[in-house]
Amino acid sequence: MQKTKGGALSNSVGRPSPLIVKNGNGTPANDGVPTLLVENLSFSYPDGHSALRDVSLQINEYEKVALVGPNGAGKSTLMLHLNGILSGEGQVEVAGMRVTRSNLPVIRAKVGLVFQNPDDQLFSPTVFEDVAFGPLHMGLPKGEVRDRVARALEQVGLSDYADRLSHHLSAGEKKRVAIATVLSMDPEILILDEPSAGLDPRARRALISQLREFPITMLVSTHDMRLVHELFPRMVIMDEGRIVADGATDALMDDAELLETHGLERG
Ligand code: ADP
Repeated sequence: MQKTKGGALSNSVGRPSPLIVKNGNGTPANDGVPTLLVENLSFSYPDGHSALRDVSLQINEYEKVALVGPNGAGKSTLMLHLNGILSGEGQVEVAGMRVTRSNLPVIRAKVGLVFQNPDDQLFSPTVFEDVAFGPLHMGLPKGEVRDRVARALEQVGLSDYADRLSHHLSAGEKKRVAIATVLSMDPEILILDEPSAGLDPRARRALISQLREFPITMLVSTHDMRLVHELFPRMVIMDEGRIVADGATDALMDDAELLETHGLERG
């Protein structure tokens, strides 16, 4: 399993995107540097089910973007393409580098993908070992690995947890350690699948404050529309394998018909 991280960049809680494209495809939010570029991506599972249909999406540096849509819309399938776990027709670029089979190790260091279930990401005895796994496998010197682990744990508010046993932590703590395991790789983009799922209100609030502070480009799939409202200036709606809307969260949240059509509720 890959492990990946997030660096000390300048903070940006995200810029509102002025653009709303309903039933459109691929909406660059602004003219900045694209950290993620997906062009005309289509994918069918081996059983023939078409899960992505001509998806195009651009996310620029430091943008924080929510990915929403009903179950089965294709959100997870799209995320699995961003670090090459799945590969469809079309093109995916991360920080200017095309995702291809030959550069997967580099791509996986650039794309910090955090799965919905932290148990899929935590497999070492201690928190330190889990968070150190990626940097160690990058061949970094031990001192640098220690620094990265300390920084990643600090970023998720768990500085004192290095010696704790990963599997004895609460759901919220596990989720934050899972995020630290990718932050320690210094990724270009952090991709989170349902980060607030299964968290109690206090753990959810703690996670939201952490995410708000992360100075990194983020794409986050979620059903938690309050989270979207609070954290993400831009929202992308998927349904039936397509991007059906991409624009400023406030504007899309005000479109009751759009939300209802795609099985969403206002946050
Ligand atoms: P979401 O994350 O938005 O809930 P998914 O990306 O998980 O959606 O699924 C998109 C579509 O692909 C769904 O119709 C789902 O049933 C189908 N799908 C997901 N995984 C597989 C698979 N391994 N084989 C066949 N179909 C799949």
